[in-house]
Amino acid sequence: MAQINDNFIKIPATYLFSEIAKRVAQHKEANPDAPIIRMGIGDVSLPLPDASVDAMIKAAEEQRHAETFRGYGPEQGYAFLRDAIVANDFAAKGLDIEADEIFVSDGAKSDTGNIGDIFSVNNRVAITDPSYPVYVDTNAMGGRAGEPNEQNVWSNLVYLPCNVANNFVPQLPTEKVDLIYLCYPNNPTGTTLTHEQLKVWVDYAKANNAIILFDAAYEAFITEENVPHSIYEIEGAKEVALEFRSFSKTAGFTGTRCGYTVVPKAVMAFSENGEKVALNKLWNRRHCTKFNGTSYVVQRAAEATYSPEGKKQVKALIDFYTENARIIREGLEKAGYTIYGGKNAPYVWAKAPEGMGSWEYFDYLLKEKNIVTTPGAGFGLSGEGFVRFSAFGSREATIEAMKRLEK
Ligand SMILES: *Cc1c(COP(=O)(O)O)cnc(C)c1O
Repeated sequence: MAQINDNFIKIPATYLFSEIAKRVAQHKEANPDAPIIRMGIGDVSLPLPDASVDAMIKAAEEQRHAETFRGYGPEQGYAFLRDAIVANDFAAKGLDIEADEIFVSDGAKSDTGNIGDIFSVNNRVAITDPSYPVYVDTNAMGGRAGEPNEQNVWSNLVYLPCNVANNFVPQLPTEKVDLIYLCYPNNPTGTTLTHEQLKVWVDYAKANNAIILFDAAYEAFITEENVPHSIYEIEGAKEVALEFRSFSKTAGFTGTRCGYTVVPKAVMAFSENGEKVALNKLWNRRHCTKFNGTSYVVQRAAEATYSPEGKKQVKALIDFYTENARIIREGLEKAGYTIYGGKNAPYVWAKAPEGMGSWEYFDYLLKEKNIVTTPGAGFGLSGEGFVRFSAFGSREATIEAMKRLEK
């Protein structure tokens, strides 16, 4: 008798985006001419940088000829890309990361989701609340989350609330944890941690033999000083932290697919019999066993984002979304809303008016203003009472949405 992994049936259906789609469809049916503006999306809208497209065309042409054709490449990524990553994302910023500590992949969702493969089911896992749903759901699949209650709160996860009271800075847990997921700049709140605030977590990890899983997918959106671009800017992090990066939000690769994970050789965890084991070795084993490498063509596209032209074009993309975020922040403030984030991230976290829940506020914005947002409650209990505005839309739509809110 074939048996399933029962953890999968414990996970509630992710009804967030289907529920949003349902409510938008109902509103459209009742108001066929409603000029709906979508500010709920977590996908980019601008096309790829020319440098990346040109690199892909060139690479595709190479694949046409026997002399330049490439079959399987190194599972960890081609040296041309790993070296470019090391040089530009780390060495240029004074960070000492080596090429064999970089694992190129098809994106940060896969990596943040798959990393659990190398960790015991017995680890106590801490997750900021609200959070990117992948962390919670993949720990549930791996059997580390326990049981969900009717509010989708899992019995074995340690939630780190990020709210107005703590200014969206997660506080150290009162019970000992082993794995800690941190995402900064944060999705969904758009908030950040300073060097000092992140150091608290690195120090905790060192003192407690814990590992930090640091998701830096929005690193490129940082505009302010004293916001770390990489956790390796924090002293000691190279012994306790893995970092996930993605070309998706940075360079428009959401459909092209490329990201990477940094696993420093000094990061150790313990085997059942107390032996220290390097995570770099384990992740290398896992990666090479279950993954045959990111497409050559796509790795060339990613490499091209580091060329002088590519860098300029990527900066133009980021600047465009950053300006949208500014328009949203200022528009919402002018309209009298209380907001957070949006300065170093493409998301603005808006507090629902007093007494209104996430979904009520969502419905109000949809029905009265024809604006689609994402209800914060969909990202965890602490997201209740908020909605997320995304800066990934067009300039016209962003400006028009803010005009509607001012009225
Ligand atoms: C978008 C996003 C990613 C990137 O995912 P890809 O698989 O690289 O497209 C990772 N983490 C967070 C928090 C995100 O919002």
